[in-house]
Amino acid sequence: MTKELYSIRMRAARGGQHISGAERLTGPEGIEELAAALVRRALEHEKGRPDTLHLAVDAVAPEALRTGRLPDLRTLRVTDFRQGRAAARQLLIEAGVSPEAVSCAMGPLAAGAATGGGSMRGAMLVDAASGERLEADSDRGVRASRMDLSPEAEAELRHRLARQGLDNPHVREALVLAGKVLAAPGLVAELCWSDDPGYVAGYVAAPQLGYVRLTRLKPAGEERGGRAFFVRRPECDLQQLIAFLEEVPMLFTEIGQIGAAADWRE
Ligand code: AMP
Repeated sequence: MTKELYSIRMRAARGGQHISGAERLTGPEGIEELAAALVRRALEHEKGRPDTLHLAVDAVAPEALRTGRLPDLRTLRVTDFRQGRAAARQLLIEAGVSPEAVSCAMGPLAAGAATGGGSMRGAMLVDAASGERLEADSDRGVRASRMDLSPEAEAELRHRLARQGLDNPHVREALVLAGKVLAAPGLVAELCWSDDPGYVAGYVAAPQLGYVRLTRLKPAGEERGGRAFFVRRPECDLQQLIAFLEEVPMLFTEIGQIGAAADWRE
C-alpha cells in the first residue's frame, strides 16, 4: 500500500432494506480489485440479491489520516443467545452503561431497530446513562467509516486469529470497526450482533474491556441485527463524534492480543 490512500465504501439494499455494507482503505493499485470484491460480496450475499448497490471511492487527505492499535480480543463461550445477551448486559454495565440504557438498546436491536422493524444501515447512538436514542435518522443511524488495517498489521492479525480458529472476514472487519469506534471521543461502549442469518456471534467492546466476543447473541436464522454506540453525555459533542466516526480516516498499524476462548461465568 502506498502513502496515497482511497476510501472504498459499499452499501447494498433491496426494497429499501439494508443487505450489506463494507468500509475499506486501499492504495491506488488496489482500488480495482477491492471494488470488484465488494461488488461480488454484495451480489452473493446470503440475504439475497440487492436492487441498489452503491460504491463510493474517495481520496483520503494524507494529513487527516490517523493511525492506531486494535483492541485486544477475547472470546467468551455461552450456551445460547439468552446467556449471551445476559453476558453482554453485564459487560456493558461493567463498562459504564446504565442497566436502563442496555435495555433501551437491546430491545430495538432484537425487534429490528429501523423504523419498519428491519435492520438499520448503521448504528444506534444511545445515551449511556438515560438510554435515549440520539441518532438523527433511525433507518440510517451512524456509520463508522474510512478505516482499515495496514498490510503488515493485516498479515499479523490473520496469523494470530488463525491460531484461535477466528480468521474470517466477520471477525477481522468487526475488530477494525470496533477499533475506530473505541477511539472516538466520548464513546463508552459498543454492542453488536450481525444481521447475517447464519452468523450468530456478536461482541461488546469498551476501552477498558477491549473486544469481547460472545459466541451467541441471537438465534440461528435471525435476520435482525445491529449495533449500538453508547455515548457519555453531556460532555460528548455529538457532531464531533459523528464527524470522527464517519469522516476521519484511520489505519490500524498495530494489533492487540488475541486471547484464547473461555466459558462465560456470571
Ligand atoms: P454486520 O456486522 O455487517 O452484519 O452488521 C450488523 C449491523 O451493524 C448492520 O445491520 C448495521 O446496523 C450495523 N453496521 C454495519 N456496518 C456498520 C458501520 N460501518 N457502522 C455502523 N454500524 C454498522
